[in-house]
Amino acid sequence: MNNTNNSFFATDFISKNQQVFLPILEEKRIELFIKREDLIHSLVSGNKFRKLKYNLQEATKLKKKSLLTFGGAFSNHIAATAVAGRLQGFKTFGVIRGDELSKNLTKTLEENATLREAHENGMKFQFVSREQYRQKLSFGFIEKMKNKWGDFYLVPEGGTNCLAVDGCEEILTKSDYQFDYICSAVGTGGTIAGLIKAKKKRQKVIGFPALKGNFLSEEIRKYVVKDASWGLQKKYHFGGYAKYDDQLIDFINNFKKDTNIQLDPIYTGKMLFGIIDLIKKDYFDEGAQILAIHTGGLQGIEGINKQLKKKEQLLIDVL
Ligand SMILES: *Cc1c(COP(=O)(O)O)cnc(C)c1O
Repeated sequence: MNNTNNSFFATDFISKNQQVFLPILEEKRIELFIKREDLIHSLVSGNKFRKLKYNLQEATKLKKKSLLTFGGAFSNHIAATAVAGRLQGFKTFGVIRGDELSKNLTKTLEENATLREAHENGMKFQFVSREQYRQKLSFGFIEKMKNKWGDFYLVPEGGTNCLAVDGCEEILTKSDYQFDYICSAVGTGGTIAGLIKAKKKRQKVIGFPALKGNFLSEEIRKYVVKDASWGLQKKYHFGGYAKYDDQLIDFINNFKKDTNIQLDPIYTGKMLFGIIDLIKKDYFDEGAQILAIHTGGLQGIEGINKQLKKKEQLLIDVL
């Protein structure tokens, strides 16, 4: 038996599905439920928990003592890896995009809640330029990190690999088979791949990419069977990764008022904006039952609100 049996990851989290009630849903006769994966943990939330689970088991099996991974300054994956790593007894190393952040680390940690949290959970950082970040998987760079920190288990950027997809299959359980549609935000595609693998044949998975680009479908196809029923709605990225506007922030705030569910502006806010927009446009048949996965990511809101405040823009209401 390995030591993961007694751990955070040994818990079989089954998140509750919460029905939401909005006038538009009543008008169009659509039932919408939100799977509250955001409630798994405040920092190892939603899909990041699912994606790390089998990777950390694998690292344990390989007798690795530390984890190394990559991300941006507000990355949910960085925060999740730092906390999950500590809970499982791993040292953690984070390669962070943006070498300007290392100039005054104290100030960076003061201003950036994601990195502060990761730091407080023991993560050590290597800040790199955007140019270096693009080379992060090169043999040279990985060797440099090994010379600096010793051997480690490498968790890919965003955490996506086959083991992550296996973990994401566990988001869906038997009681979810009643739904006609399963919706998810998409970043690297690992989460939606797990959902596609776990769904029943008659169910359709719809992904809402949080970023621009046409590479995602191909990435997802690497993990799933050819004839599975799924698709991407590519018009709801709001200009690209971590881009947003007042309309999106307004939507998130109103959704919170109406349902008491907090969304984030990078992923879940865009997905729900998309779902509601598609409902308005009669994309779904009357009587359709939709399950939207709340993949978490709420730890990033504080950082976004700091940016919004500087620009004197509308802020995200937080409970
Ligand atoms: C990382 C993340 C996603 C994207 O997941 P992928 O598996 O990379 O597609 C979606 N939602 C939230 C909240 C995330 O943190």
